Amino acid sequence: MKVLLADEFGFCFGVERAVEMVEESLGRNEVVRTLGPLIHNEQEMERLGNKGVTTISEPVQISRGETAVIRAHGVAPDVEKELQEKASKVVDATCPFVTRVQRLAARAASENRHVIVIGNPEHPEMIGVKGYAPDNAFVIKDESEVAGLPKLNNPLVVSQTTIKAKTFFDTAEAIKNVAEGETQVINTICSATRDRQDAARALAGEVEAFYVIGGDHSSNSRKLLNVCKEQCEKSFLIQTEEDIDPKDLEGIETVGVTAGASTPKWLIDRVVERLSALGV
Ligand code: SF4
Repeated sequence: MKVLLADEFGFCFGVERAVEMVEESLGRNEVVRTLGPLIHNEQEMERLGNKGVTTISEPVQISRGETAVIRAHGVAPDVEKELQEKASKVVDATCPFVTRVQRLAARAASENRHVIVIGNPEHPEMIGVKGYAPDNAFVIKDESEVAGLPKLNNPLVVSQTTIKAKTFFDTAEAIKNVAEGETQVINTICSATRDRQDAARALAGEVEAFYVIGGDHSSNSRKLLNVCKEQCEKSFLIQTEEDIDPKDLEGIETVGVTAGASTPKWLIDRVVERLSALGV
């Protein structure tokens, strides 16, 4: 009777770094306000809220005496400038993988080239990246939108960090076919999501039940659940240890556990403790 953790689970590098930066600010007794929720996890947001962290939705809401935190998704330069002007301090927790995309976009724009970013135009990460090349960048979801682009000049093609590789490469190929000059394709997809899915897939065949810890509305946790379900019928998405129904574990000897990239370690530990207490 044992609990097995997937090889990769929980906080990705960028989210862990952002939470650490907030904790450091709290340690210096700063009044911390994040622009947008720092992380898509209700329980972790509540924990940080209990320590005094609040969320704002617009830079105009920040005041002198406060520390503004830019979350891992990053923001456009004009938003950062406004925060710098209004706050006493700005902590930039933009994930370095996102910073790379922003820099690539800014450089291509400075060379008067087009920038095509494949991703969701409404996603905060994409809004931020577009802000680095406002006149040159286009954010498109997939190859079906390539025909709607203007005539492209030596375009740079990059991606939102969390999209599927197939979508990226298919769309990049479609762009190459219509662009003038040389098309530069740089894969900027981060492997965090795929690594968690691969690790869950590797474990799912070895266990009789699988718990995925993550937000109910988190698409990355839902995808993890689907991966687990492919090989382990008794796979469940739970938010906390309280969602475990002991009836689901009757006769079960091996349980797998994984967690989405926004799920904190303390929450994962609680689930493992609860499973152990239930005699699994
Ligand atoms: S998923 Fe990847 S790009 Fe996004 S914050 Fe995490 S490490 Fe950074």
